[in-house]
Amino acid sequence: MAEWVTGKVTKVEFWTDALFSLTVHAPIHPFTAGQFAKLGLEIDGERVQRAYSYVNAPDNPNLEFYLVTVPDGKLSPRLAALKPGDEIQIVSEAAGFFVLDEIPDCDTLWMLATGTAIGPYLSILQYGRDLERFKNIVLVHAARYAADLSYLPLMQALETRYEGKLKIQTVVSRETAEGSLTGRVPALIESGELEAAVGLTMNTENSHVMLCGNPQMVRDTQQLLKDSRQMTKHLRRRPGHMTAEHYW
Ligand SMILES: Cc1cc2nc3c(=O)[nH]c(=O)nc-3n(C[C@H](O)[C@H](O)[C@H](O)COP(=O)(O)OP(=O)(O)OC[C@H]3O[C@@H](n4cnc5c(N)ncnc54)[C@H](O)[C@@H]3O)c2cc1C
Repeated sequence: MAEWVTGKVTKVEFWTDALFSLTVHAPIHPFTAGQFAKLGLEIDGERVQRAYSYVNAPDNPNLEFYLVTVPDGKLSPRLAALKPGDEIQIVSEAAGFFVLDEIPDCDTLWMLATGTAIGPYLSILQYGRDLERFKNIVLVHAARYAADLSYLPLMQALETRYEGKLKIQTVVSRETAEGSLTGRVPALIESGELEAAVGLTMNTENSHVMLCGNPQMVRDTQQLLKDSRQMTKHLRRRPGHMTAEHYW
């Protein structure tokens, strides 16, 4: 049984009408970068709980979560209404296997995210451990509009910090925006545009691909990489080239 502890909201930052970040202080157990917590609120006498990835590095006590308000969602609109000082329930033990320990060595590690699923990668990159074994890292954040790329300043700061090892690329699907590719991630891989934009190739010889977020993006990209690049899902018992986490 998960152990729940009470945390306190210390900051609520709205990036757009729907996208926001919550910072929480809570006595949790140590987690691994890439893992998620469960947040819960008492609604009509019952605890409603959902999974949310940590954005902060594990050694940072400001527990940060990046959320979107799902219209008519049961929990996310309530989380969006929280104010600094409010209490929130959180599981003390994080969960999930979307962590570097599960990723085999390779030259180029691709980190592909849609929407709020940029979180696990930001935790991994802010922590910065166990990345020596990759020559290149590519962080791709895909959203509908450029205004939804909430963590672009942090992505840019990380790119500077990693001195050439990390390349960042943003993608928008519903408009054209300077610095971003336009379209959907699978189509941009299929056309070669993503690789051309970052100057690196994605193949079984040199790459491992992490995929996180919208299940449609994850499934379509996996299918494309399987069909056109012979990439397979990575399992502990059968090493492959793709590791994924679905948000719903
Ligand atoms: C491992 C894991 C990690 C997750 N991490 C995050 C996170 O860091 N940030 C985050 O915002 N959500 C995250 N989610 C999704 C989150 O757990 C909830 O599903 C989401 O907040 C909706 O809850 P709700 O009660 O408001 O909606 P519900 O009433 O439960 O409605 C669920 C529906 O909302 C939609 N939905 C769920 N998540 C999203 C999303 N992120 N973007 C767009 N539509 C969505 C889907 O259509 C889904 O069927 C994660 C999910 C998993 C499984």
